[in-house]
Amino acid sequence: MSHVFPRHCHADLPTAVAGAGCYLIDRDGRRYFDGSGGAAVSCLGHGDPAITEAIKDQLDKLAFAHTGFFTSEPAEALADLLIAHAPLGIDRVYFTSGGSEATEAAIKLARQYFVERGQPQRRHLIARRQSYHGNTLGALAAGGNEWRRAQFGPLLIEVSHIAPCYEYRERREGESPEAYGLRAAQELEDEILRLGPDTVMAFIAEPVVGATAGAVPAVAGYFRRIREICDRHGVLLILDEVMCGMGRTGHLFACEHDGISPDILCIAKGLGAGYQPIGAMLCSGQIYDTIAGGSGFFQHGHTYIGHPVATAAGLAVVGAILERELIPRVQRLGAQLDAALHGRFAQHPHVGDIRGRGLFRGIELVADRETRAPLDPALKTAAKLKAAAFEAGLICYPMAGTIDGRRGDHILLAPPFVMDDSQISEITDRLATAMEAVL
Ligand code: PLP
Repeated sequence: MSHVFPRHCHADLPTAVAGAGCYLIDRDGRRYFDGSGGAAVSCLGHGDPAITEAIKDQLDKLAFAHTGFFTSEPAEALADLLIAHAPLGIDRVYFTSGGSEATEAAIKLARQYFVERGQPQRRHLIARRQSYHGNTLGALAAGGNEWRRAQFGPLLIEVSHIAPCYEYRERREGESPEAYGLRAAQELEDEILRLGPDTVMAFIAEPVVGATAGAVPAVAGYFRRIREICDRHGVLLILDEVMCGMGRTGHLFACEHDGISPDILCIAKGLGAGYQPIGAMLCSGQIYDTIAGGSGFFQHGHTYIGHPVATAAGLAVVGAILERELIPRVQRLGAQLDAALHGRFAQHPHVGDIRGRGLFRGIELVADRETRAPLDPALKTAAKLKAAAFEAGLICYPMAGTIDGRRGDHILLAPPFVMDDSQISEITDRLATAMEAVL
């Protein structure tokens, strides 16, 4: 009996001992196709020699130098590489050890920015009901997943939650996607006006909603209107690309698809591709200059920010994504995966919607395709599917998400960018086996 405090106290999990390409291998030699890259992490698959070499090289040179005393070569190089490809206006990179740290830092930076600009009354954060921004207290407060928040409510800062842009469930009959997008975005302006525009500091959203909804992109035009509304009221736009960033959707940054730039951008997961724990909060030159020209000190900081080995891994990962031309590959394989999922499951009586971008795909499960009624939560379909898929040798990320306060089941797929065409059917075959066993 190990003394590890696991995620699930009663789950009897196999011990992973190796990773090779798209597969994880347990102690008994069983191979699992990593169809969700864990939680959209392992974009380069497992055991990539170029990345492990870069990590070893860095370890041989320098393992750690505290950022209170030193900067480091890999941190500088990775920041420059990210900025060379970042959305317009984004100019600085603040490294973290993961996604929650990145969103937490973003919320604090938004607040400090306004304090330093002499607008301390700007303190309200607006987020969306269908969202996940991490599990630390600030990030959890921003997220809209009631199940995750419930017992911690008394500890959470007050955050306004507006509707997500969730076409499958919220677009009205006869309403065009464009009109729906504008209606959904208008909720932000209504909330800003309700709170008082000069009291709002930021709006945070995932460009493609991941864990709470199963790869839900916004309709065309939604984020452009969101950007306009933020600009009109001087509210900062924070985009959380922790899950959907780093090439996952077929663009290095998911917001490129929407044609907008945020003021603050959070990334993690695919940045280290699982080889090292690393995330980052990127911000505009204007925000950085405000702090640099004001107190000169962002009042934040964890011991391991800008860790040399983690940033060396990130540098090798981003280099690999760009040099191996994996982004066009994600677009091509993503379209094939989408077609294969539609071909295989679109007519399934419990499949309501198949959606996503690039190699970030979601399937929403329903009790009834006509009424779109969610499955009974008591059935625990998502958990059963996860187990059945695992049994069939497929790692996928099923979640019981939140649909208007109720729980709705979905499956998230986020396979490695390095998979090949033939492995698409491996995903759909194994998923079909799991679906047959459960639904
Ligand atoms: N933001 C989003 C969109 C996420 O999907 C996640 C994790 O799933 C996080 C933040 C938190 O990241 P981490 O688990 O690395 O703290």
